[in-house]
Parts: sequence; structure tokens; C-alpha cells
Amino acid sequence: SQRVVIIGAGIVGTNLADELVSRGWSDITVVEQGPLHMPGGSTSHAPGLVFQTNTSKTMTHLARYTVEKLLSIEQDGKKCFNQVGGLEIATTPARLEDLKRKHGYATSWGIEARLVSAEECFARYPHLNREMVLGGLHIPSDGLALAARATQLLIKRTTKAGVRYLGHTPVTGIERAGRRVTGVTTPGGIIPADIVVSCAGFWGVELGAMVGVKIPLLPLAHQYAKTTAVPALAGRSLNSAINGMNAELPILRHQDQDLYYREHGEQYGIGYYGHRPMPVVASSLGLTPQHVDDKNMPSRLDFTTEDFDPAWQETKKLLPVLRQTEIADGFNGVFSFTPDGGPIVGQPSHLDGFYVAEAVWVTHSAGVARALAQILTTGHSEIDISECELSRFEEIQTNPDYVSETSQQNFVEIYDILHPLQPRISPRALRVSPFYARQQALGAFFLETGGWERPWWYEANRDLVKALPPSWQPVDRDAWSAQFHSPISAAEAWKTRNAVAMFDMTAFHRFEVSGPGAVRLLQRLTTSDMTTKVGSVTYTLLLNDHGTIRSDIFTHRLGEDVFQIGANTATDLAYLEREARVQGQNTPGEWVQVRDITGSTCCIGLWGPRAREVLRGITTEDLSNKGLPYFSLKNTILAGIPVTLIRKSYVGELGWEIQTSAEYGQRLWDRIWQAGQLHGLIAAGRSAFNSMRIEKGYRTYGSDMSTEHNPFEVGVAHAVDVSKVDDFVGKAALQRISTQPLARRLRPLTVDDGRSVVLGKEPVFYNGRAAGYVTSAAFGYSIGKPVAYAWLPASVRDGEGVDIEYFGKKIRATVAAESLYDPEMSSLVQ
Ligand code: FAD
Repeated sequence: SQRVVIIGAGIVGTNLADELVSRGWSDITVVEQGPLHMPGGSTSHAPGLVFQTNTSKTMTHLARYTVEKLLSIEQDGKKCFNQVGGLEIATTPARLEDLKRKHGYATSWGIEARLVSAEECFARYPHLNREMVLGGLHIPSDGLALAARATQLLIKRTTKAGVRYLGHTPVTGIERAGRRVTGVTTPGGIIPADIVVSCAGFWGVELGAMVGVKIPLLPLAHQYAKTTAVPALAGRSLNSAINGMNAELPILRHQDQDLYYREHGEQYGIGYYGHRPMPVVASSLGLTPQHVDDKNMPSRLDFTTEDFDPAWQETKKLLPVLRQTEIADGFNGVFSFTPDGGPIVGQPSHLDGFYVAEAVWVTHSAGVARALAQILTTGHSEIDISECELSRFEEIQTNPDYVSETSQQNFVEIYDILHPLQPRISPRALRVSPFYARQQALGAFFLETGGWERPWWYEANRDLVKALPPSWQPVDRDAWSAQFHSPISAAEAWKTRNAVAMFDMTAFHRFEVSGPGAVRLLQRLTTSDMTTKVGSVTYTLLLNDHGTIRSDIFTHRLGEDVFQIGANTATDLAYLEREARVQGQNTPGEWVQVRDITGSTCCIGLWGPRAREVLRGITTEDLSNKGLPYFSLKNTILAGIPVTLIRKSYVGELGWEIQTSAEYGQRLWDRIWQAGQLHGLIAAGRSAFNSMRIEKGYRTYGSDMSTEHNPFEVGVAHAVDVSKVDDFVGKAALQRISTQPLARRLRPLTVDDGRSVVLGKEPVFYNGRAAGYVTSAAFGYSIGKPVAYAWLPASVRDGEGVDIEYFGKKIRATVAAESLYDPEMSSLVQ
């Protein structure tokens, strides 16, 4: 077993110690700056409401495990979870609709949930004002985590199992030798370690800085108050039936006014997110005092009554029984927010042995701890935690101004109803392609991802909608799916399928992998043969040791020792960088350099039956199927500009990705644009692109597949070269998996009514029972119907009917054979 030091004895650090000892690791020390009986971090005062359901499957499953685990921790008959259930109420029609969507997420992710009428809300929660509530969502397995108690019991049980706890011991530095951490510095001396895990909560930024790791979290104060005793709850504290848990009513959310509630015996606890964001710098809070108690701890700041006033007025409206009470006690408690609202888990690519698990709610604490313990002990977490990865952030997203602005925005929007495509208003235009000015001139509607502005459609194409043939005319959408959508994308898809369109592909991650060890590195990490000839293009997978998918990538072999990688995320970059570094350390003659060239290059996808004619106007290159076959590339000159022409397509049409370095970008756009005018060329956006990708059956990493899936069930087994002789990561596991029957498969569905568009994550019912969920969805313009990809039991056959739940209603759909568009690939290779 390795020597592990965990920094922080909050709910995350103690759970991690527990998850590690239960997996047989033994040499574990938990170092805590505060006293162990009450360390003084966010956990020490957390009211512990656990609402499990989230738009994210990952977050929901991390929460579900936390509930299971806390229910299992018990001492003297006292549990650490009070399963009173959760009730979210709607006081506006928009929220009522939102709860219907949430009911869908709960069903998709396997959490029992029920939409309840206003009457049932009162029956479950008699204190509610009958005139305000329109309905609710009830989740019986939600409840209250007794986080401080759980922490103490975990300390006790892990101490018994041999974990060493050092209270009143601040970590002041992290020791390293070269690129490996070797221990932590404390006032009592250095504690040696092979692995250091920072579970320092909102002090994470300071801990990261000790080893040069930027932790993009912002500590913010959040108001929590307790009332005086509520007459309607008289005697509650003495009620033995509630087993010292201090609460019987469900935990309650009133998100229309940024409020949540729980009981504390005869008192009410009120949490409020409606106030102004109050950023805190952890290092300014000073050292944790020797004496910590309920009222005196670094994470507890003075209550600012004036900020709470609207909450108190609203509370007295919603819960009239509280009109007879006053605020007895309140505080502004500190915890972490992040740019995308997710936790921060994992390791930086430049350092070995240093991990973090921060910005984690009590709700997800045991789930995150288990995931990290699984990663440390087996290399793989059974729950996909890509969206929690430290490495998911683009460089620009770790800069303190960005972190501050976006994290505050997340605080403000925490209970808002957000459309899945809703972009942030600010900061915007952080990263733009060289085509940006041209796109603006064409009236591009931009959405943002990873700081990049990406055209979704172009207003310049609006007149084309009228010219669409009847079978292509866009159908009306419901109000939700009509948001961030334009019928213009139908016209853009039509032009792509029938003439030619140019797509800005710049925001897709491009990495260069070069050096004498490049082939060896990719040969070891991918499922395909990388010894293919220079000029070849390969669609391949990065697996983990368990044979599930960590990413799908394109490799472009530009030279003997030079590849370009078309990848998905910054996490792919971190993985390749780490593996390259380790290979270089172990076999110096086979060093590899991995560089992110996304921003220094740009890329246009030119696709459609007339793409070849457009290019013929600006190059003499042989563009025939023989001269430049599908899945091959060539460095050449186009209109005097050095480019790489890559024969591939994400939309299933003839065409090329055309790459050049950033400084030539605008000229490249202009030249293609001019050459294309004769052939009806338009610029087209991501909305049309997504529709064509989905009807063609091309999967997207993140929504259609993750580390929870193997290539066979996803339907990307064609990216595995079964004849590959060399060993690669995941090969042995994959061979094992290939002999087992599939339990589930990703399948395309077409919507029977030809018009109801869903957006993704909706539950799918088979024979009346929830059997899977939608991953990607779009209107398939070429086939004239909405399309959805969904996970379903493998036994479901083509042509069978299923129902998709959308806003509480069932939409009939049919399981289809692939591909829905051009299964013979005749469009691609014409
Ligand atoms: P912490 O509990 O803060 O633990 C980190 C520990 O690291 C601290 O004890 C600290 O002393 C120690 N440490 C830091 N730096 C050092 C160092 N240099 N050396 C040694 N030790 C160090 N979450 C929910 O899920 N549901 C809720 O209802 C809920 N309500 C909340 C209400 C309020 C008012 C607040 C403030 C938070 C709430 N949260 C809630 C959030 C939740 O409390 C936190 O996200 C969670 O407790 C974080 O746990 P942790 O173990 O990561 O951090």
C-alpha cells in the first residue's frame, strides 16, 4: 500500500480515508488544521439537505451513493441520514414545468420520484401556504445528512482501522522531488507520502498554489438562519420517534425565491441564495483558532441581516406558521463554487501523486470519495466523473477573474430554470476563430463552449427557409425546444445535403503529438494500428484498463513522427501529456511532445455534394476518390495558402476538413467563400451540424458515451482493430468483454408523430417501464422526423415501439436500424 496523506478532515477527507481503508490501504494520515471534534470547515455547520436529483447523471449517482452510505453508518442506534424525503414546490407555472423535466431526470437516473398535486404538497407539508403552491416533486429517498456526526463516526471507525489523524496541524507546504510529491510540511515536521490528496474544501486554492496547481474554485458566503421555536412544532425535540434526528417533515425547496428549509427540532432552518454574491478569500480568514465551537469557526462569518430580509418576508408568506417566530440565529457560511458548478476531482498532468477532491457538497461527498478511492486503487471509477475532472477546465477558465465572475454567476443562478443550451452572458468572446468577423457579418447566432464562440446558425440564411421543399419545411416546436433554435438550421442542413456548406471547426480540440516515441505512445493508448502510412486518418478509441471508453479521437498521421489528434476535451490533453511524460521518463530515447494547437490553428469543414467543385476552383490537387481517398489527408496549397486537407466528414457528406494556421484563417475563409459562390455555398452552424451528425449516427463523447460504456454497447466497435498485435490500454479487458452478452445498447429512435423534438436525458419507457434514457437528440431534417439516440436493453429489436417522457407526457417513438441517413455511405464517397 502507498503512503497517503489526506489534507482536511471534513466530510470529504474522512470519507476518502474510509473508502481507502475499506479497500485494504493501510498507511493513511489525515492532517487537519482545526480540532478533530469540530474542524471548522464547511462541514461543521452544514445543514445537510440532500436533494439527489440533478440534470447530471453523474451528480445524481454520486448523491445516491452518499445516501446509501450515510444510511449505513450508525452508532448507538443513531443513523447519519434522516430519510425524510425531499419536496420541491412550484409557485410559478414555469417552475411547475421545470419539475416535470426534473421528474424525467430522476426517472432517467433511477431515482424514484413523483409529481404531486398542490393538495398532496399540503398533505405532506401542512405548513405551506395553500394559496401559493401549484404542485411539487416528491422524492422519498432524499433527506438530511448529519454531516458533522458522520464525520465523527468516520474518524472513529477509520482510526480503529489504523488511519492516523492529526488535529491542529496545518499543512504549510507540499514536498516534491522532481515531478513527484513526497510529503507535506507541517509545524511538527515533514510527513512523507507517496500520495497527497487535498480535501481542503474552500481552502483548495491555497493548497493547490503550494504545488503550482490552479484550483478554479471561489469561496462564497451563503446565508443560513434558524428561527425561534415554532409553536406548531412544540414538543418535536422530545419526540423519540424521530430518533434524535430533529426533523420529520420533508426537506423543502422553494426555488422560485432561492430558498430551502429544514426543521431543527422546534426551530426552522432557512437557507437563502437570493442575496448578492459574497466572495471570500480563504487565506484572509486566518488560522483556525485553537478553540472551535458552533459559533466560532473560520467558515462562519457574521450574519448580514439586511441581505436576509427578502428571504424572511418571503418565508413568512410561504410558511405562515413562522409569522409567530423571529430569526434566533443566522450566519454567512462559506463554501466553494466553481465556473460550471461541478466539483473538482483528480490530478494535474504535470505532477505525480497529487490529487484533489474539492468544491464537493455534502450531497456528493461519499460518492466523490468512493470515485477517487477507486481511481487510486484500481485506476478507474465506476461512476463516470469526467465532468468533475480537475483537467476539464481550459486554461482560460482557470484564470482568477474568470473563476470569480463565473462562480458568482453560478451562485446567482443556482436555482434558476436554465435551458440546456443557455449560454452565459459574460464573459464572452474569450476565444474566437479567425473567421469571427466574417461570421458576425453573416449574422451568426453564437453559443459558447470552453470559452469559444461557435456559430449556431446564420441569419444571412433566413431567406432560404422559404425556398425549402415541402418535405424540408421546419415543423413548429414547443416553447422549450424552440429556445436557442431557429428554423434557419433546416435550410442550412438542406444546403449541406444538396449543395455545399462551410462549418467552423476551429473550436474542436487539436493536439500535436510528435517525437521519436509518438507511434509507440499512440500504439499503446489507442485501439487502432498507428503504424499506418503517413497521410492516413484513423477514428480510434482511448480506453482505460477496464475496457471502457475514456475518449474517441481522430489521429492524422502527418509525418513519420508527427500526428495530429482531433480530441474532445482538455482532459484528453492532460491524459496524453501525462502518458507522454511518463514514457519520456522511462525510455528517454522515445520521448514525445504533446502540444495543444487548437488556438494556433483553425479549421473549416467544407461538406456537401458540390464540395469538390468548390475546391477545384482554388487548387489543382487531385481530389478524386483515388487521389485523396476517404480517411486520408494531404498537405497542400489552396488559393496560395498552406493547408492540410483531410478527407473526412462529421455530417455524412462528401468533403474535407481544411486546416491552416491561425494567421491565414481569414484569407482561407474568404477564398473558399468566393470560390463557392458559383456553387451555392453557404456558411452553416452547429445546429444543422448536430442534426446531420445524429441522423448519420456519429456518436459524441460525453453525451452518447463515457467511461461507463464499452465500445460494443455504444456501437463503435468498428474503431477497435481486432487484428492489432501490439498490446494497448484496455485490450485484455476488451477481449473479456467481447465474449459476454450485451445488456444494453445505444439505439436510434425516430419520433412517430414526426414533430415532437426532445433535447436529451429524457427517460425512455419500454413495455411501460423505464428502460433507458436519451443521450443525443435533434430534428433529422433529411429524414423529416425527430431523432433521438437512447440507451435500451439489448433485447429490444428494430421496429419496436418505445415512449419518451417529455414534460410528463409520453411521446411515441420507434427503434430504428442504423444509419438513418445514407447507410450505404454513397454520399461520403462520391
Ligand atoms: P470542509 O468541511 O471545509 O473540510 C475541509 C477541511 O480542510 C477543513 O476542516 C479545514 O480546516 C481543512 N484544511 C484546510 N486547509 C488546511 C491546511 N492547510 N492544513 C490542514 N487542514 C486544512 N451541502 C449540501 O450538500 N447540502 C446542504 O444543505 C448544504 N448546505 C450548506 C449551507 C451552508 C451555510 C454552507 C456554508 C454550506 C452548505 N453545504 C451544503 C455545502 C457543504 O457544507 C460543503 O460543500 C461540504 O461540507 C464541504 O466538505 P469538505 O470536506 O470538502 O470541506
